[in-house]
Order: sequence, then C-alpha cells, then structure tokens
Amino acid sequence: MNWLKRFMTGRYGADQLSWVILVVYFFISIMARIFNNRILDVLGIVALGIVVYRMFSKNISARYQENTKFLNKWNSIKRKVNNRIQRIKDLKDYKYYKCSNCKQVLRVPRGKGKISITCPKCKTVMIKKS
Ligand SMILES: [Zn+2]
Repeated sequence: MNWLKRFMTGRYGADQLSWVILVVYFFISIMARIFNNRILDVLGIVALGIVVYRMFSKNISARYQENTKFLNKWNSIKRKVNNRIQRIKDLKDYKYYKCSNCKQVLRVPRGKGKISITCPKCKTVMIKKS
C-alpha cells in the first residue's frame, strides 16, 4: 500500500462530488445495458473518466472549489425539498401566504377566520382568510 500512498501524495482523492458522479456512472451503465444503447455507454465512460481525473488531479484547490459549489447546490436543493415536505405535512393545520411586498413566505394557522397578518420581515399588514 506504500506505492499507493506515494502515488496519491499531492493528489486530490475522492470527495462527495466524485461519489455522486460515480453513482450516476453506475446508473448510466445499468441503463446502457438495459437499453443496449451505445450513447449511454459513452456517457458512462465520460462520467467515470471525470471521477478518475478528479481523484488523481493535482489541482487541489480547483477540485475543492468544484466540490464546494456542488455541496452548496446540493444543500439548497435539499432545503427546498424539505420545505415542500414540511408544507405538505402542514397542509391540514396551516395555510401559506406570500407577503405581497417582499415575497417572504408566511405560515398561519387554519380556521381562525379573517386575520391580519403582519410580515415579520417588512412589517406589511395583510388581511387574509385563514
Ligand atoms: Zn414582507
């Protein structure tokens, strides 16, 4: 294992982005087998090539930045999905409104009749049915 250690010195190695691309590669190559599709085969090889290239890359800061960008995007998607799930869970007990002024999303309890809602962000007051 010493040669491997020496070989990997100064190289980037694996990160979350590489793992995701690897999963995509497996997915693509399974699809390529199922549909017997040459284009998918090539796409899979390209994906695998990117993973290998990134792992052995010596431009560590560039690879690190790619991974950071990816994680930011990933987290923002995760947050949006979680918000959607939360809204669906809340559907029975809460109503959602968007502030007419600043577009801030406001959550109010259902079944309280007409209520005035004050936006916590910009203090705009709206009258809405809850
Ligand atoms: Zn507002």
